[in-house]
Amino acid sequence: MRKKLVVGNWKMHGNLLENRQLLESVVTNVSNMHEKAQFAVCVPFPYLPSVQAMLQNTSVSWGAQNLSQFDKGAYTGEVSSGMLVDFACDFVIVGHSERRSIYGETNEVVAEKCAAAQRAGITPILCVGETYEQREAGITEKIIKEQLDAIIQSIGIDFFNQAVIAYEPVWAIGTGKTASPQQAQDVHAFIRKIIANQNSVIADVLLILYGGSVKASNAQELFMMPDIDGGLIGGASLVADDFVAICRAASQ
Ligand code: PEP
Repeated sequence: MRKKLVVGNWKMHGNLLENRQLLESVVTNVSNMHEKAQFAVCVPFPYLPSVQAMLQNTSVSWGAQNLSQFDKGAYTGEVSSGMLVDFACDFVIVGHSERRSIYGETNEVVAEKCAAAQRAGITPILCVGETYEQREAGITEKIIKEQLDAIIQSIGIDFFNQAVIAYEPVWAIGTGKTASPQQAQDVHAFIRKIIANQNSVIADVLLILYGGSVKASNAQELFMMPDIDGGLIGGASLVADDFVAICRAASQ
């Protein structure tokens, strides 16, 4: 039985005051839900110390949204896995479609970042997903397979022992267009099958989150699908009532 996971991706939003108000409300309202589900927020780097201080000893974990593939060196502006360890991050999002499309992260770089996170003991949340054009061209499964194969070939299938996958169709991120529960389930089942072809034990326990315009109003029907193990939540994670409602849907 997989315990559902709901992760907020704050992207480049927030400030010290708003973060405090948001987290106070989230922590209070999800405190009685953690038996059936787990919760986390992935926040901008500068807020890690204050978020750590607010969330330690609560039922909400925290993490970052990116990391460098390198451990240290002359990489101006980058943040290493060791630095995330200093702030006790449990999770780091890797290969979000915004990193792939805006910052040119390739499948190979994403694999290196995944490896760096795992070496440091941080659970990578590996994002995969197709664009609208790729779905229309009927190559969704091919794209997802390439994204997963890059990891399997460079790190090995054991990577998925200590990782989470987020299936995020690019056309659904921040657009208000959600994949239907069946559309999402089909891709989740495909992802689990790819992993199961190599190791069925890992595939059975692997958490595969859905991301892409998850809202309070559609979370429950998505989370009821057999291979959807929770959500990666962008916009709705910035509004306490919405995020809490999504967490509640995961804990049913
Ligand atoms: C995301 O940023 O990963 C995401 C899914 O965003 P949204 O929920 O806003 O579509």
